[in-house]
Amino acid sequence: MMIQTKSRPYPVFLGDGIIDNVGEWLLSVCNNPSKILIITDQTVKDLYGGKLESVLKAFDLDVLTCVVPSGEQSKSFETYYKCLTFALENNLDRESVIIAFGGGVVGDLAGFVAATFMRGIPFIQVPTTLLAHDSAVGGKVAINHPLGKNMIGAFHQPHAIIYDTQFLKTLPLLEIRSGFAEVVKHGFINDRSFVENLMKTIHSLNHVTSEQLQWFIRKGIEVKAEIVAEDERETGKRAFLNFGHTLGHALEAELGYGKISHGDAVACGMLFALWLSEKIFRKDFQYKSIKNWFNEIGFPVKIDETIQTESLLERMKKDKKTVHSQIRFVLLEDIGNPVLKTFDTHTLYSFLNEWRTEGC
Ligand code: NAD
Ligand code: ZN
Repeated sequence: MMIQTKSRPYPVFLGDGIIDNVGEWLLSVCNNPSKILIITDQTVKDLYGGKLESVLKAFDLDVLTCVVPSGEQSKSFETYYKCLTFALENNLDRESVIIAFGGGVVGDLAGFVAATFMRGIPFIQVPTTLLAHDSAVGGKVAINHPLGKNMIGAFHQPHAIIYDTQFLKTLPLLEIRSGFAEVVKHGFINDRSFVENLMKTIHSLNHVTSEQLQWFIRKGIEVKAEIVAEDERETGKRAFLNFGHTLGHALEAELGYGKISHGDAVACGMLFALWLSEKIFRKDFQYKSIKNWFNEIGFPVKIDETIQTESLLERMKKDKKTVHSQIRFVLLEDIGNPVLKTFDTHTLYSFLNEWRTEGC
């Protein structure tokens, strides 16, 4: 599979047990690299670090590994600075290549290091989470500022994505479900029959086969890639990727980051967006059966009663995508056909309350 962007096309290698090919594929996209810097987190290093290093060393490549703490905390100035110091101390140069080996956190961090080290050097994404089917594609790389998530970043496309589904065997269920929410999102904004097939075949995330993983990761990447190809710099269509995220982000912030996974919050946001879409466009998307399916998968299907609708509205107003108190929502005219709609806070307040009392 190839990802087309205005900057450059790049390949995606997807398969089960393909880590053995990383050296060969890296050399096919990066000519004669001086050094390889693997940036990874502690968890992934402990599980798979040795394997990746030995695969690369077999190709006589000069390999170094920089390990950062696991989790969102590593998308910080401090960790970013440490990675740059590591790169300088070890004499990386413009001919060096960075490998982002981990989930979305490592992908965003290592990508930003690659984007800025000596004004930009190549990097390869080797994702190890399901959510990374989303984050590894599209070239958005960033770290967080204490005043806002992903506020310091760049657009820097990788030279390749090498996705081995073997890694997902050790990923905790909560993380699988979080990534699966984005797979479902890609379905809702692009392809009705894909959503129907998911609903027919996936009833639990406990026993997903490697064929199923490859099937929906491939689809998720294709949808994201199609949108990114048309809108690399997020001026138009890329906004559709926010389906479920307006309310999802508000929920995450209101509950406190880490109290609910990103995917669970987005799943809840998608349900509200579906309910609202049916109402606004007078359509029948079989909301009830979608909600039952979400429940079966383990997604939260309603918002905890302790959370005030007013507080959620306040959060949505503060969202960086909100302009003049008009809250922007991605709705569906049909499954696979997203549209942008803006609401004033009063209207949205009534809808949200109605959904919480009747729709949920
Ligand atoms: P993550 O990278 O923190 O990984 C989740 C947890 O799983 C971590 O503790 C990690 O150590 C562990 N882990 C990773 N691989 C594992 C494996 N194979 N087995 C066992 N444990 C493993 O989080 P994530 O959910 O992958 O990514 C979230 C980040 O992605 C957020 O910071 C978000 O902003 C970013 N993101 C970026 C984009 C983009 O376009 N750049 C898109 C979506 C999300
Ligand atoms: Zn998301």
